[in-house]
Amino acid sequence: MTTANKTTSATKGTNEILIIGAGVAGLAAGCYLQMNGFQTRILERHTLPGGCCTAWTRKGYVFDYCIEWLNGTDPDSSPYKVWHELGALNGKSIKTFEQFNRVIDADGQTVNFYTDPDRLEQHLLSISPEDERLIKNFCRYMRRFQKLDLCPPLAPIPLMGWKQKLTMAAEILPQLGLFWRTGGTQMDDFCEQLKHPLLKKTFPLILMQDHGNFSLIPYLYTMAAAGSGNAGFPEGGSLGLSQSITRRYLDLGGKIDYKIKVDRVLLEKDGDDNRAVGVRLKNGREIPASQVISTIDGHTTLFHLLEEQYMTPTLDKLYHEILPQGGNTYPGLITVFVGCRKKVGEGEPHSTTYILNEQEAEQLPECMQGSILLQHRSRMADGFTPQEGSVIRLAYFTYFDRWNRWRSEDKPHYRRRKEEIVTFIRSFLEKLYPGINDTIDVIEVATPVTMKRYTGNTGGAILGWKSEEADNLLDRLINKDKMQLPGLKNFYMAGHWVAGGSLIKAAVSGRYVAQFLCKNMNRSFDSGFSNYQGAWHPDQWGLQLERSTSESVQDDEADVLETITANI
Ligand SMILES: Cc1cc2nc3c(=O)[nH]c(=O)nc-3n(C[C@H](O)[C@H](O)[C@H](O)COP(=O)(O)OP(=O)(O)OC[C@H]3O[C@@H](n4cnc5c(N)ncnc54)[C@H](O)[C@@H]3O)c2cc1C
Repeated sequence: MTTANKTTSATKGTNEILIIGAGVAGLAAGCYLQMNGFQTRILERHTLPGGCCTAWTRKGYVFDYCIEWLNGTDPDSSPYKVWHELGALNGKSIKTFEQFNRVIDADGQTVNFYTDPDRLEQHLLSISPEDERLIKNFCRYMRRFQKLDLCPPLAPIPLMGWKQKLTMAAEILPQLGLFWRTGGTQMDDFCEQLKHPLLKKTFPLILMQDHGNFSLIPYLYTMAAAGSGNAGFPEGGSLGLSQSITRRYLDLGGKIDYKIKVDRVLLEKDGDDNRAVGVRLKNGREIPASQVISTIDGHTTLFHLLEEQYMTPTLDKLYHEILPQGGNTYPGLITVFVGCRKKVGEGEPHSTTYILNEQEAEQLPECMQGSILLQHRSRMADGFTPQEGSVIRLAYFTYFDRWNRWRSEDKPHYRRRKEEIVTFIRSFLEKLYPGINDTIDVIEVATPVTMKRYTGNTGGAILGWKSEEADNLLDRLINKDKMQLPGLKNFYMAGHWVAGGSLIKAAVSGRYVAQFLCKNMNRSFDSGFSNYQGAWHPDQWGLQLERSTSESVQDDEADVLETITANI
C-alpha cells in the first residue's frame, strides 16, 4: 500500500457504500443497492448527473450530447426491464425512425438505410442489382436479428442458476450459425465484396461514422432493433434519461454529492490483503465507506486512485498492451451544435452522414474520415428549442492527441482551429439550407478534450474500448474477477470501461455490481419496477433554461464545458 492510499483519520463505523461517478453506471449501481437495503452515496465531480449522457443549454436551446439510439425502448424487450427498474423511461414517449441513417456522397448520390429490411432490400437492389446476393443476405440476417431479444443477460454468468444458463444456451444455440457468419465477417470485407462503388462507401457509415474494426453484428443488431422499435429516442433525450434515473435513486433514499472529485481510494490492511475503507477527495478530505465502487474511467481508477497496485494479467494486457497500441478505444469526437430560429430540413430524415469532397475534407479541421454527421436534434424530441426553430448537431471523428496538445501547449491555436470549424459549418449549412446563417443564434463546438475534461474518459473516448480483443478481456473482468481486484477487498469497478460501451451496458454493469455485492454479503438480490407515473417535463432537466419558470434549477455547467460559442 502506498502512503497516498493510507488513511489519516478514523474510518471505522460506517455502513455507507461510496459510489464514484454519477454516470449511468454509478446511478444504476446506486439504485439497485438501495433496492437491496444498502445505504449508498454517489460522489460526482460535476454539477449534474449523467456523465457522457448529458445535455447543456445556450440561449434557451438545449444541446443534447449523447443518445443517437437507446437500446431497450421496446416495452416487450428484456433491456426495457432494466430501464423500467431504473425509472428511466417512465412517463416518456419514444420516437422511432423509418431510416436509421441516410448517407449522401460528395456527388449527391444517396443511400437510405431504412430500418424495415424489406424496404431496405428493395431500395438497395434498385441502386445495385448486381449486388443482389450480398444485399439479400444482409437483409435476411437483419430479419433474423429482429426476432432475437438481445441484451446483456440480467445477471452475470457466475450468478446465474442452472435454469437461467440453460435458457440462455437454448436461446443462443440455434443462432450460432448466424452469429458465426455475421460475427466472422468484418464490415470492411463485406464492402470489399460489394460491386457498386456507392454501396461500398456508404455501408461503413450506417452507424453515423465508420467504426473501423467492426463485424457485421453491431450493424445488423442495431438496425434490426431500430426496426422493431427497440432502439428509439426517448423524450427528454440524454440528460432526461440521466435525470429520471437520478430521481429514482433519490426516491429510493440514495444521496448524491456534486462537485466532489475523488483523488484516492483509502486502504487498510486486512490479513494478507488490503481492503477499501473510504476515499480521499482532491481537497484532502477523507470520507469513510464500508465498500467503494468506482464507475469512472478505468485508467484513472487503476493508475491514479489505486496507484497501479492491483493489476492482473488481464488488466496488464488491456492497459499496457492494447491501450498503447492505439485504435482500440473509440476515437475522439468533434460535436457542433447550431441553434437557429428557422425550421430547417423538414421532410428530411433525422440523420444524414455527408461524405465530403476532397476540398471540404481538407478544410474541416482534423476530420478523420472525410465525412460529417448531421442530425436534426430538435426533431428527435420536443423541447430542445425555445421557439419555432431548430437544433442541429453535427459530429465527426477526430484526433484526440492533437486537440489535447494544442489545448495544453498552444491555446490560441486550439481556439483558432475551433473557429475554423465554425466557419466551415456556416458555409456547409448555408449550401444545404440557404438563408440559415441569418437565423443562427448560437454555434457551439465541443472537442474530445471537452469530453475528457467533462467526464474524465481516457482519450475522450465516447464509449471506452473498441476492439474484439478488449471485449473478450472485459468478459474476464466480469465473469472471472467478478468486478473486483485480487488482493483488494470491498472494492468493485463498473461502467463502460469494464462492461463495454453503451447506455444499456453501463446500466447493466451497475446491476451486476449490486448482484456481486449482495452475493458477497450473503444477501439475496432483489429488484423492482419504478411506479413513477408523472409525465416528462423540461423542468426535470435541471438546466437553467432562459425560458424556464422553475425555481429549482441548478447551475448551468458553462464553467466546466470547454466550448466555443460563435460570436454572433
Ligand atoms: C457523444 C456520445 C454519443 C453516444 N451515443 C450513444 C448512443 O447513441 N447509445 C448508447 O447506448 N450509448 C451512447 N454513448 C455511450 C454511453 O453514453 C456511455 O457508454 C455511457 O454513458 C457510459 O456511462 P458510465 O457511467 O460507464 O461512464 P461516464 O458516463 O463516463 O460516467 C462517469 C462519471 O464519473 C464522473 N467522474 C469521473 N472522474 C471522477 C472523480 N475522480 N470523482 C468523481 N466523479 C468522477 C464523471 O463526471 C461522470 O459523471 C455515447 C457517448 C457519447 C459521449
